[in-house]
Formats: sequence, structure tokens, C-alpha cells
Amino acid sequence: MKYVYNFGDGKADGKADMKNLLGGKGANLAEMNLLDIPVPPGFTLTTEVCTEYYKNNKSFPNELDNEVRDCLSSVEAIMNTKFGDENNPLLLSVRSGARQSMPGMMETVLNVGLTSKTIPGLIKKTNNPRFVYDAYRRLITMYADVVMEKAAGIEPKEGNGIRQKMEHHLSTYKNENNLINDTDLSENDWIAVIDIFKNEIKTTLGSDFPDDHNAQLWGGIEAVFKSWNGARAISYRKIENIPEEWGTAVNVQTMVFGNTGENSATGVAFTRNPATGENKFFGEWLTNAQGEDVVAGLRTPNPLNEDTKTNETKNLPSLEESMPDIYNELYNIRTRLEKHYSDMQDIEFTIEDGKLWMLQTRVGKRNGSAAIKMAVDMMNENMIDKNTALMRVNPNQLDELLHPALDTDSEQSAILLTKGLPAGPGGAKGRVVFTADDAEAWNKKGEQVILVREETSPEDVHGMHAAEAILTARGGMTSHAALVARGWGKCCVVGCNELNISVDKKEMKVGEVTVKEGDWVTMNGALGKVYLGQLDLTPADPDENQEYKELMRWADETRKLKIRTNAESPDDAKQAIKFGAEGIGLCRTEHMFFDEKRILAMRKMILSDSEGDRRDAVMGLLPFQKEDFKGILKAMEGKPVTIRLLDPPLHEFITLDDDQINELANNIGIDASIVSQRINSLHELNPMLGHRGCRLGIAYPEITEMQASAILEASAELTNEGVNVNPEIMIPLVGAVAEYIDQEKIIREVATKIEKQYSLTLKYMVGTMIELPRACLTADEIAEHAEFFSFGTNDLTQTTYGFSRDDIGSFLPDYLDRNILPGDPFQSLDVNGVGKLVAMAVKLGRDVNSTLKIGICGEHGGDPESIHFCKNIGLDYVSCSPYRVPIARLSAAQAELD
Ligand code: ADP
Ligand code: MG
Ligand code: MG
Repeated sequence: MKYVYNFGDGKADGKADMKNLLGGKGANLAEMNLLDIPVPPGFTLTTEVCTEYYKNNKSFPNELDNEVRDCLSSVEAIMNTKFGDENNPLLLSVRSGARQSMPGMMETVLNVGLTSKTIPGLIKKTNNPRFVYDAYRRLITMYADVVMEKAAGIEPKEGNGIRQKMEHHLSTYKNENNLINDTDLSENDWIAVIDIFKNEIKTTLGSDFPDDHNAQLWGGIEAVFKSWNGARAISYRKIENIPEEWGTAVNVQTMVFGNTGENSATGVAFTRNPATGENKFFGEWLTNAQGEDVVAGLRTPNPLNEDTKTNETKNLPSLEESMPDIYNELYNIRTRLEKHYSDMQDIEFTIEDGKLWMLQTRVGKRNGSAAIKMAVDMMNENMIDKNTALMRVNPNQLDELLHPALDTDSEQSAILLTKGLPAGPGGAKGRVVFTADDAEAWNKKGEQVILVREETSPEDVHGMHAAEAILTARGGMTSHAALVARGWGKCCVVGCNELNISVDKKEMKVGEVTVKEGDWVTMNGALGKVYLGQLDLTPADPDENQEYKELMRWADETRKLKIRTNAESPDDAKQAIKFGAEGIGLCRTEHMFFDEKRILAMRKMILSDSEGDRRDAVMGLLPFQKEDFKGILKAMEGKPVTIRLLDPPLHEFITLDDDQINELANNIGIDASIVSQRINSLHELNPMLGHRGCRLGIAYPEITEMQASAILEASAELTNEGVNVNPEIMIPLVGAVAEYIDQEKIIREVATKIEKQYSLTLKYMVGTMIELPRACLTADEIAEHAEFFSFGTNDLTQTTYGFSRDDIGSFLPDYLDRNILPGDPFQSLDVNGVGKLVAMAVKLGRDVNSTLKIGICGEHGGDPESIHFCKNIGLDYVSCSPYRVPIARLSAAQAELD
């Protein structure tokens, strides 16, 4: 087996597509060599060395030593220097590089090979002692930190690491000697500092800094391999789902120096602007510096060129004006790299005494709007084809475009109040209120409000809707507040533990700071940050964005899945159509009963003990419901609208305090104690598995009758007005076909009656929501009657796993931590379990009814991975909240291309 791959002088053993073996950095260093781009020569120890190292109890394969020595000789031949030589020493960098970039997670050591033997030679050769000692102190700092401390497994207390100690010594030295920048230190200053550093290493770590070039090289190599299993790398791997077996490669490379004087420099750049996507070369550079100085922010870096100067950087020198020839060469390389990789690159370069060297290239990270612009621009520039463009944008990145965001400049100078979990996207500002009713009342007066709650519950929904944003002290990413807010695309921060809320006093405190009702706060839902006062927001209007429109047009041409939305008001429906929805996949009807004017009738209905009273009460709701449905059916302009009959447990309608009980008793004309008694008798131990769904319509057929009448009368009246309508009536929570047959019969009878009454033929469908395992198992029986299935995967996940969605928060973090679950099954569909039931139901259903229309509603309908699954098992559509419709459109297109 070959363990070490050479590169240099226009030749390389490896190439770009060998990332698995050479890591991203190593593969691209090889590739740049093959492109004849100037890269300091070096070699890559493969990821297999890393795997072997861990397999063999942290020892290296026997052949490794020889292979390294051979490669080192090639490098020495190219450079005409020798590692460890006292007259003409070669210096090396030892760099980590995994398959997938893990920014800042692993280690690099620069200037390896400086010892008491080689230092005098290098001084003579460069005639620049200050540079040599500057390089030496950098080697000592990095080596002590990376090799002698971290790789040795020493875990100092926060702020007490060897690197911090050395940094502290350096700043003390600068203070005492009235020096401001590192560049102000002379040769003798560095010699003095180096002495202090070495003493500190001896005291703190108990051993000397090694004065042997080979010891430094192998110490560096081993430290990089060890950093693969450092605490930071492990936790990063977990978040990014990077398997442990991948291992990292190590790149050993000739040092080039950006810190030899004013004719030297270093910089990082993006071939296009990663924040806007603009096709402009964009970057930062520093004269007389080594690579890490740009990133570390010790000195303010300069802009790369004139074109990208801003107000803040307009007086700083650009590389374009300071070193025009080098800039042109770099610009040329930029163009070639982008063409070669057909994607935006993130590059590192160093200029040593007027010669340009490239140190790294990789696909650059970008934000959402930049990703879209680059994909569309590159397609129009003939760099990539349409399908590649579609695959270039992560659907979740579209979220950024669909919500107003905080203005980054004003955010920088803002006063942070507190931090929590980033639960809902975008930014928002408003005046603080502490109850849902206040939120609604203030909003009616035309105020923008932010609703602050300990945590939210379904009773807060009207206030949440009225608020610009929601802020809670408790709860996690799947808490009620988070789910509701994300569904609406509303800014939301949850779990701000520092918040001390007093609803009585209408105020909240964070430490000494008090925020009272009516005070302004601004929130960044993407970062989970809450600021005092009002900050500027940049509004979202994706229709203004031509590239977005273009990309979505391509997505629509490509996808076969239809995209619907979950909406229950004409406003939501219109928003969703604007975002491209082709129908409503789930219109819940329960909120229509919670309205103040109607809830009384509902409660009367539940508490009546005679069928006649019950009927009177429920039929009182018919005119209201009819208006609701007219609004929605009209807004959807003939697109299909799936309306679900009443679903929630009855107890949700009759959770009442004493005053409300008295009022209700008065209204019905019975004693309050009887009302209480009836409420008690309806109490359920487990309402989610209790009297809900079609079980309501079976016990109270008049509810189904009233709802069917409302839907179909609305349809009939609209049809007569010349409006096109397409209602689909959905019976919830069916587990046995007999339940379905019972309810369907009521609906069909109502329809026949209405057709006669209005003398027309109604176009409508009846179907069911599949959300119980038994419904999946008997889907063939149900499909003989139903015209459509819609998978309610929230309840189906609850009932398949036996996890209550409202209580999973208590153990989910543990499950994720210990890899018992790969993710939250309520966010991304559990393909192996719940998915198997869904696939089975699709097959059973279609086998008996080939025209069965099948879709999915619920959270999963807007989740890219779940959408791939839905496409693969042949669903007709997915339905998701309005703000996820564009995400679903793109995901559905990507699912076709995979
Ligand atoms: P990271 O992956 O954290 O960016 P790198 O291995 O790229 O780590 O190195 C860190 C810094 O050191 C970068 O700025 C890089 O340009 C610089 N560097 C690495 N190798 C060399 C080298 N051979 N000559 C000059 N600078 C180098
Ligand atoms: Mg780098
Ligand atoms: Mg349900």
C-alpha cells in the first residue's frame, strides 16, 4: 500500500477526485500542481495512515518512515535546500486536511525545522534575522499548543492554555516596551520573547521545546492525526454527521513566507463574493504577515481590489494598486480555478519576495442568496448546466430569502439582552407584551408586538399570530412555540433561560436589566439573539430577486411532485399561492370553532344532553363555517383544497375557569354545578388517544353533517357565482374502514341534498387522513371507498413510535447524544419505520384503486429529506406550511435529479 503522495513542480501522484484518500486540501494541492499553478512542493500522508494509526494502538505503519524520507528528498531536490541543513535549511508546514473541511477543528504547525543548528544558516541566507526569529516564535507557539499540550492530552482550565500564557507574555512585553503591533518588534525583541516562551513551556509542560528538526516533523505529524480525535473535532463530526472512520490526511509542505518584509504578503480570497454572490473577486490581504494573521484579526486586513472597497476600507491599500503584477497573476489563477472546478473557490495565497504561491483551494461556503445568484449566473455563463445549478442550492438556504432579516451593521453595535435557541427564521422588532390577549389587543391598535411567554400553549395561538415574533424562557427547538413559529415562518427565540418573567408586573428581567411592557426589543431568529431597542430590518421580497425566480422556474420544470400548503385562512392561502403552492393539502377546521362568537355554541353542543339541543347548537355554527370555506375556496381559484373535519379532543373546548363556567351555565340555563359535573365526566386520561378525530363525528354525527353542509353549500354558492372550486373532504384518524364508511355516508347524503337544492352537480372528493398504523395495515380495505389518502405523519409518527410529540423533549436530547436516534423523527421522517408503513399503505391502496390520489401533510411535507422519500414511493404531492413551499419546490426538483 502507498501511504505518501508527492506533489510539486507541475507533477503530482494524486488529483482532485482523490479526496477520500488525500483529504480535500491534499487532493486540491495535487490538482493545482497538475494545472501548473504555483504551489510549494510537498507530500500528503493519506487518511489510511490515520486509520491504521488508530487501529494499531497509535503506532504508524512500518513503511511510513521510508516513504516520508523519499518524498522529502524529492521536495529538497525541487527546492534545492535540505531539511535540517545548517547552511541552506528547508522549512515545512504540517497541515491537517479531512475529506470534508472542518474549519478551525484540527491543527496546523508552521515553520517546522527551525533549530539552533538551522537558525544561523537561515539568517545568513535571508540576511533577515528579524524574520527568522519572528518565524521561530510562531513555530514555538503553535508547536507548544498543538503538539506538546493538545496532542499530549493535557486539558488546561479555560484561558489557562500554553498558547494563552504565551500570548499574555507577548502583550506584557509589548506594553512594557511601548510596542503596539507585532510588526513593531525588532530582532532583539523577538529573541527576548522567545526566551520567555521557552521558560514558560518548561515550567508549564515540564519539558523542553525540541531542538531537533526530525523530532519536530514527526511530533507535528502525530499531533495532526491525534487532533482527529480531539474533543472539538469529535463534537463537530457529530453535528455534521462525519463518520469517525474517515480519518484525516496530513500535508507536509515547503514553507513560503509572507513575512520577509514589505515585498511579501499573505491573503485569503473568494472567487466570487460569498455574501452576495456577485461575480467579483473578493478577499483580504496583509503585507509582511503569515497566513494565520489574516484570520486571527490581529491586524485589520486590506481589501483585495478597488472594486470591492467599502466605506470602511476605502482608505486602505488594495493588492491591485500595491502589487499590480501579482494581482493580475492572482486574478488569472482565480479565473482558471473557477473554470476548472465550475464553482466558487475559497483560496489562500502567499507572496514571498514578489513571488506568488497558492496554498489552498476549495469550494467556498456561501449564504442563501449568494448560492442562488451564483448557481443562476454560472448556468447563464455556460459554466454549469441547469441540473447542476438546481443541485447547488441547499433548499433550507431559501429560508433566508423569505424572511426579513436584521441589518448586519446595526446588529454589530446593538446591546445584547439575552440569547436562546434560534427557533424561527429572520429578524423582527416590536414592543414587548406578556399575554396572548395583550398581543392581540395591541396589534389591533396598530402596534408591532413581541409576545414573551414562559412557554406557549395552544391557547396562545391568537396572540402568537398577532405578534411579530415570539420569545420564550423555556422549551427547545421542538417546543410548541418553535413549531408554530417555524410553520408560519415567524421569527422566534426559545429557551432563553436567563429571562425572569413576571406576567403580574408585566416585566422581564435579565440580571439587573428590566424590560417593561411596551419597551422595544429586536430579535435575530437565525442566531437566537435578543437585543434592546429597535434595529433596522431588511425586508424580504423574493419576487424582487430575479435569480430566485429563474431558479424556481427551473425547479418547477423539473419536478413531478405537486406542492400544496397547509393553510386555514384566506390570507395564508394567498401567501402560499404567491410562494407557488398548487393547492391546500390540509385546512384544519378547529380554529374556526375557537373564535369568540362560536365557542359558546360549541360548548353548548358538547354539554347538551339531548340530541335536539345539540343539533340546534351545532347548526348555529353553519353560517360562520360556510363563510370561512367560501373565503378559502375562492382564494384558491379552483385549486384543490383538502378540508379536514373536526379533529381535536373535546376537552380542548371545555377547559374553563369558574367565571366561564358560570357564564356558560347562565347561557344554557342550567346550574353551574351541573356544567362542572359534565365537564368532569368528559375528562380523559389520554386525550391524544381519546375522543377525537372521526370518533367525534361518529358520536356526534351532526358535527359532520354541519361541516359537510358548510363546505358543500359554500361550493355550490361559489359555483353559481361562476367561481371554480375543488374541495376534498378529509375524514381524520380513521383506523377501521367501518369508521370511514359511517362518515362518508353522512357526507354523501348531504351532497345529494345540496345538489338538489341548488340544482347542480358538485365536484368534490371524499378521502381520509392516514395517521394510524392500523389504517396503513388495512389501506386496501379503506382504498376501496376513499378517493384520496393524505398521510398525517405527525400522528403516524406518534402512534408508530409511541412517542408523544409534546413530551419527546424530555428524552430526545439523550437519545440524540447517545446515537439511539439519528434525529428528531418529528422533523425528518423515520424512513425505516414510519416510512415502511407509508410505503405499504401506498402499495395496498393503489393495488385496489389505481386512481387513488396520495399526498402527505404535516411537518415532514416541508423537510427536504422526507420529500425525497415521498418522491421515491410515488406520492402525488407534499403539503407544507406556506413559508416552506419554495423549499419544497426545490427539494422536489432535486429529488428528480438524484
Ligand atoms: P486551516 O485548514 O485551518 O486553514 P491550513 O493548513 O490551511 O489550516 O493552515 C493555516 C494557515 O497557515 C493558513 O493561513 C495557510 O495559508 C498557512 N500555511 C499553511 N502552509 C503553509 C506554507 N507551506 N507556507 C506558508 N503558509 C502556510
Ligand atoms: Mg486553510
Ligand atoms: Mg392528526
